Amino acid sequence: MRYLSRLFQPVITIPKNAVIKNTEITCKSQRLLLECGLIRPTSSGLFTILPIARRALNKLESHIIACIEAAGAQRMSLPSLTSSTLWDKTGRLEEVGPELMKMEDRHQKKFLLSPTHEEAVADLLSDVGPMSYKQLPLLLYQIGNKYRDEHRPKHGLLRAREFSMLDAYGLHTSEDCARTMYSRVSDAYAQLFKRLQLPVHRVSAPPGSMGGSMSHEWQLPAAAGEDELATCPRCRQAALDGDQRCETCGGALQWLQSVEVGHTFILGTRYSLPLGAFYTPGTGGPQPILMSCYGIGITRLLAACLEHLSTDKSLRWPKLIAPYDIIIIGPKEGSYEWQSIGSDEMDRLYDVIAHTQPDADIIIDDRHHLTIGKRLVMADRMGYPTIIVIGKAYLESPARYEVYRSTRPDFESGTQTTPYSTPAALLLTEAELLSHLEGNDEQLIKSSA
Ligand SMILES: [Zn+2]
Repeated sequence: MRYLSRLFQPVITIPKNAVIKNTEITCKSQRLLLECGLIRPTSSGLFTILPIARRALNKLESHIIACIEAAGAQRMSLPSLTSSTLWDKTGRLEEVGPELMKMEDRHQKKFLLSPTHEEAVADLLSDVGPMSYKQLPLLLYQIGNKYRDEHRPKHGLLRAREFSMLDAYGLHTSEDCARTMYSRVSDAYAQLFKRLQLPVHRVSAPPGSMGGSMSHEWQLPAAAGEDELATCPRCRQAALDGDQRCETCGGALQWLQSVEVGHTFILGTRYSLPLGAFYTPGTGGPQPILMSCYGIGITRLLAACLEHLSTDKSLRWPKLIAPYDIIIIGPKEGSYEWQSIGSDEMDRLYDVIAHTQPDADIIIDDRHHLTIGKRLVMADRMGYPTIIVIGKAYLESPARYEVYRSTRPDFESGTQTTPYSTPAALLLTEAELLSHLEGNDEQLIKSSA
């Protein structure tokens, strides 16, 4: 989509303390996503993902896929509906109980809209019959929507009743083998969060209703988070529960609100045994397959990033998943600049940048009836990483663009939730702009300072 005016982006202003479709507005990602026309609630805890947010999710998914496939995972798709019988056999039908979305088909056969697929995967392995030990280990994954009938859906996409997840399942013949894969997938997670420049902490967690021998939560600090994370500013250790002092270095711990964006488990035979998922070892009879599982809440991660990075007034994205990388804003229709520059200049610049930066997603704000100032405010609110204004400076000699870039100078400080800052405009000629977009910008920033 080349022109902003063509985007489906129903922008609204939410009055203070408003309740929309039975949902209170309780955190900034929820408010900003709604106000900026990126999501729309359909009822409590259910959301339509609108095109701009969908673009960000697509990018986020592509990075998740790259990381998990680098760890050797193979993608598949299980049905969203799982027979309740399977959940009955593992005891989770009763355990998870009211959080399950249940339904019946016309033959009164009972199903649930799955919140997770351990049962379905174990049933699949049981169905294909005992695999040879030579075929294991395996790592299977899917990306799809999951369902949880939250008692109180809250904070928009952070605690919704339908949400998108990566769920991966490791299949093993031994605990050692499970641990090897567990650490490989953990490395893939760490790689993903590093690419996204998010200070996500891996912390030990109780396995809870999932069962198993090892479990970690992956936590991103954010004010709206419902978990509490103890972090050590000195050695960066983090834990979900802790004393006043860091176990590793003795430093004083800091407590932060945080959001669980991922969870990893070694499950053992908790699901394979009751559902009959066996393999054949080199000698002796069939043995239950050991399972591990790995989840990332994709819609939740998106909201958590925004919660972590945004200010109260403006969205800020991890650079890699910003819906558009660059927005071009031209002069207001009828202004002196408009008469001298004309509207073709926006399209020409678009083509030049698209040619030199084929991977960049660029959009032209063609709402020329609005002033540059007004569109600049809106662009800042949307969090476009690069804003290019064709205005007064373009009429000078040499012609120059006003360029605004979101930067995150203090990401490395780790635990702090630091919003981006948008520095004052750089004034750049076309050649300087193109070089700047290619990342050869350090000298420019120095010379303009
Ligand atoms: Zn420490």
